[in-house]
Amino acid sequence: MKNPIKVAFFGECMLELNGTAFGAMQQSYGGDTFNTAVYLTRCGGGDIKTWYATALGDDALSLELERRWAQDGLALDLVRHIPGRMPGLYQIQVDAQGERKFSFWRDDSAAKAYFEIAETPLEAQRDQWDAFYFSGISLAILSVESQNRLLAFAQALRTRGATVVFDNNYRPSLWPDVAVARDCFSRAFAVADTVLITADDHLALFGFDSLALAVAAAQKLDAFEVVIKRGAAPTLVRSGSGPWHSVPTQTVTNVVDTTAAGDSFAAGYLSRRLRGHSPEDATQFGNRLAARVIAHRGAIIPLAVMADLL
Ligand code: ADP
Repeated sequence: MKNPIKVAFFGECMLELNGTAFGAMQQSYGGDTFNTAVYLTRCGGGDIKTWYATALGDDALSLELERRWAQDGLALDLVRHIPGRMPGLYQIQVDAQGERKFSFWRDDSAAKAYFEIAETPLEAQRDQWDAFYFSGISLAILSVESQNRLLAFAQALRTRGATVVFDNNYRPSLWPDVAVARDCFSRAFAVADTVLITADDHLALFGFDSLALAVAAAQKLDAFEVVIKRGAAPTLVRSGSGPWHSVPTQTVTNVVDTTAAGDSFAAGYLSRRLRGHSPEDATQFGNRLAARVIAHRGAIIPLAVMADLL
């Protein structure tokens, strides 16, 4: 095993405002790939080093975000600072029924412009990475030209034997229409050797009539390794020409906040797979970590409440 195993992520981490309009609001930050990067850093046991590639502005909030990401243990030399651009922002508001509602300001965020330069730091160091991780949201925020750049970069890594991981997070509002999204996801499925599927998102993207049909279709994907997450139902995993394994999830009696369930699962899974554990072991650990995350509030739970898992 190489030490450290070098993993690069591309995506967007936004500022978070949590509270009511014109009331007190708590500031934080988060984003799907970012959450996975932080959990992978925690779970890597010092064997895995995690880089986060994204873009920020040169404003005070951007600088403070970067300072905090460094404290989270991420390597940040792939981060671009684009003068005049700003980080994306979302607000979470809890309505009278306890439902969380999200509002986003991200249409012109810095991360969207990451690939709008002749060569990004991520591409310049392409020979470094043992693994590269991106999601449907990483693709959704980019222009078509930038999507092509990201997918070509992923293909180049794959060709030289690096592990390319794609998580199918599908957010319809980030895409011009579903046909464009389907086409782009299909290209990502073809480039990745490890595909992490949330069954609900696969159903929404491809318009299946039932979850069972979405799962059956996901089982036909021809990526080398496929993991299918189904909430509390057992997680399905197959690697190479091996059989499908059904790995039970943990029983969680106090689900407090399901934010980052899939993101933390991905980190737990990869922390084991990249260090040579079997797909079943890795899935079991991903399920354990996700169960712990959904029993606490917030996308990134305090290290202290997951320390016994590490
Ligand atoms: P996503 O967060 O990507 O929408 P899922 O809802 O399928 O994905 O959840 C991801 C993982 O989180 C599951 O594979 C499982 O390990 C865990 N999980 C989610 N919901 C529950 C639950 N109610 N009980 C136990 N584990 C859960």
